[in-house]
Amino acid sequence: MPATFLPILNEVEKQSLHERQPLPEAYLGLSDEEMELRIGAARAALGDRVVILGHHYQRDEVVKFADYTGDSWKLSREIAKLPAADFIVFCGVHFMAESADILALPHQQVILPDLAAGCSMADMVAPDQLETCWAELEQMGVALSTMPVTYINSSATIKSFVGERGGTICTSGNAEATLRWSWDRKEKILFLPDQHLGRNTAWKMGVPLDRMVVWDPFEPFGGLTTQELDNARMILWKGHCSVHVRFTAKQIDMVRAQYPGVRVIVHPEVPFDVLRAADDSGSTEYILKQVREAAPGTTWAVGTEIHLVHRLAEEVAPEKTVISLDQVGCLCSTMFRVSPNHLLWILEGLLEGRVHNRVTVPDEQKKWARIALDRMLSIS
Ligand code: SF4
Repeated sequence: MPATFLPILNEVEKQSLHERQPLPEAYLGLSDEEMELRIGAARAALGDRVVILGHHYQRDEVVKFADYTGDSWKLSREIAKLPAADFIVFCGVHFMAESADILALPHQQVILPDLAAGCSMADMVAPDQLETCWAELEQMGVALSTMPVTYINSSATIKSFVGERGGTICTSGNAEATLRWSWDRKEKILFLPDQHLGRNTAWKMGVPLDRMVVWDPFEPFGGLTTQELDNARMILWKGHCSVHVRFTAKQIDMVRAQYPGVRVIVHPEVPFDVLRAADDSGSTEYILKQVREAAPGTTWAVGTEIHLVHRLAEEVAPEKTVISLDQVGCLCSTMFRVSPNHLLWILEGLLEGRVHNRVTVPDEQKKWARIALDRMLSIS
């Protein structure tokens, strides 16, 4: 087993990187003022033909140009309401642009300003690892009683695999409903790729930790025995978000000591002990709602990506105080790759009739991934 994790790219990502067009030199070293003016001018000239989507974790210099902001699922669903847009510029990471392409209308093209903006969690499940896992579950006599479920933070290949086998997709906002739906149909769930979201959600629903096992894709048969698998209700893929695993229970102790009465709210991608030590947990949309609706004078320590936390702090100040649970700050470094320079290059390219860094999901994958997404919608 390798000592450190190395990202494994799926076929679509490999192709995208191959086709990745680097930022031309003319777009380097521009002043903020010039970029602001030129992005504004290009945006105005393109009108309704383009829509810019900005994820909550995106940096301020980019998100300020977004027509819509939200989490990955909320943004993808905006597309259905925007049939006039020919180009969807998704300022997020690769799997989000793929989801947008799966849901887009036939005439719409999805663009990720920098194709190197990936997601370390999505990369932790490679298609061949999942094929091997499923074949081994079949050999161990467990596959028939197992529902595959993938978090939306996964590649289109993984979503397609799950869809083809009767499974579905979940978000951090509907994970509980998805697990309930799955257990109504099968005895066990194979949960991909985030072990923490899977564990935290199942535990909140009353599943004890000793009925959950972790499937290690670098070990034969996931490193598990038949007995362990027979006993399990949750088979958790050994994946995680490199941003959210930085939060610790010790940080919670420290903020409680420093800010008496503070409310600690975390994203469910955090490790189990952090979730237990926090006062509340939920998706980014849930976190925003809780803090926005909280009483004046309250103080919040938030455990999620730093750009969201900073913007929320500015929004609710001076009525309420918001701090990051990690005082050093947890940055999604891959999303950070999308810069205003990239956005400008993309928009000016469109004005000249050139589409840079388009993300496309092959039709066969699109079909099964769409089926899995539609199942998810029917559950929600
Ligand atoms: S915050 Fe984590 S899960 Fe979200 S895009 Fe970044 S690496 Fe992926």
